[in-house]
Parts: sequence; C-alpha cells; structure tokens
Amino acid sequence: MTEGQILTQPRLLTEVESKELLRRAGVPVIETKLARTKKEAISISKGMGFPVVLKIISLDIVHKSDSGGVRLGLPNAAQVGKAYSEVMSSIKRKYPEAIIQGVSVQRMAPPGIEVIVGMSKDSQFGPVLMFGLGGVLVEVLKDVSFRIVPVTRRDAEEMVREIKGYPLLQGYRGQEAVDIPSLEELIVKVSQFIEQNPRIKELDLNPVFAYKDRAIAVDARIIMEV
Ligand code: ADP
Ligand code: MG
Repeated sequence: MTEGQILTQPRLLTEVESKELLRRAGVPVIETKLARTKKEAISISKGMGFPVVLKIISLDIVHKSDSGGVRLGLPNAAQVGKAYSEVMSSIKRKYPEAIIQGVSVQRMAPPGIEVIVGMSKDSQFGPVLMFGLGGVLVEVLKDVSFRIVPVTRRDAEEMVREIKGYPLLQGYRGQEAVDIPSLEELIVKVSQFIEQNPRIKELDLNPVFAYKDRAIAVDARIIMEV
C-alpha cells in the first residue's frame, strides 16, 4: 500500500502475497514465487525442480482456473515457456482490462486429499473458521464445520471429525489415511494468524492437500478490511 492511498474497497491480496503472510505465521504453504516475465518463470522453475504449476497473478482475477489462468504439471522449461505465453494471451483476450502482475510458480504437489480451510466474519461472532473437504464435496454437499476464533486444538479436533466426509480422511477403499494431527495443527495456526491480524476480512486456503504425513496449502486468498 502506498502512503496517502485512500482505500475505498476491501483489498484483495494476491496468491503470492497471501501465501507469504501465511508462511511467516507458520502455516504450511507450498513455496511460491512471482515471475514477471517468461524468462523469470523458466529460471524459477529450474530452481524449484519440475514438474511445476503456473498461475495468473492479477488483482482483477479472483478465480484463476475458471479464467484459464492455471497450468498444472509442467514437465520442463519448454513447456513452462509455452504455458506462460498461452496463459498471458488467453487472459489478455478474455480480460483486456486486467492488470497482470505476472504468474506464480510453484512445484506440482503430488496427489492428496483436498480440503479447505476458510475464515469469514460473522456480524455477531466475529471471525469464524470453516473446515471441509475440497471440490465438489464442499460446493454441492456443503459438508463443512465451523468454530469461532480463537480455535483451540480441541476445537480443531472436533472440526475435523464433525464433517460427514471424515471417513475419507481416515482412509477409504485402499486410500491411505491422512495425517489428522497435521490438519488440526494447520487449523490452529490459521486461527492464531487471524487473531494476530484482525484486519483480515476473509481468508481461503482452497485447497489444502492432506497426505499421510503432512498437510500443505497450495492456494491462498486473503481479503483485508478497508
Ligand atoms: P483457483 O482456486 O483460483 O481457481 P487454484 O490455485 O486453487 O486456483 O488451482 C486450481 C486447482 O489446481 C486446485 O484446486 C488444485 O486442484 C490444483 N492445484 C493448484 N496448485 C497446485 C499445486 N501446486 N500442485 C498440484 N495441484 C495444484
Ligand atoms: Mg483455489
């Protein structure tokens, strides 16, 4: 924010900014860097190791994949270069007015169970954390649990167990169980982060990938109060 700037709109932070704040607060997020040019995207990818993911970074684009702004599983420098050009031309065509900062670069995370952790402010209760399974399960079935911030370890344990999809986290039909304690730890860390940053209006970690030994957010979005 530049000095003297008058904010009249809630301020959206980019994926890169959101993840950086969360990382500093000890919330596990996948390492993510901003590339402003194709050359930068390639050199960052080489530094991180393939396969990588590119995502459009623009405050004018909230849903990155809906707008054709996410490219997953890029196996080498040539594919990163190609994906960079394709994402840029597609976004410029669809959203000619959008101000584009560049693309984010991150490692392609191995498959895991996708969950979401969110925060919104209730007019009566203040910040409330939400936990649920990612994707269709949350959108269609609204299978989520809520607790008021501050969320204790005990609250987090209950949140995880309350959702109908909990058996999926325990391992289902040969699928490996995920590390429940690391999910609880992540929820508590997010709650502490919210407490320390009362100006956050909304937060979304969607998705968090849950594995047998850890949990890590691969997308993050924060909206600040005016
Ligand atoms: P948006 O929610 O803005 O559309 P996301 O960053 O959530 O964009 O990416 C869309 C989807 O791509 C995610 O739900 C997830 O399934 C997948 N994805 C995103 N980042 C990664 C990553 N680093 N590794 C593996 N899959 C990813
Ligand atoms: Mg997302």
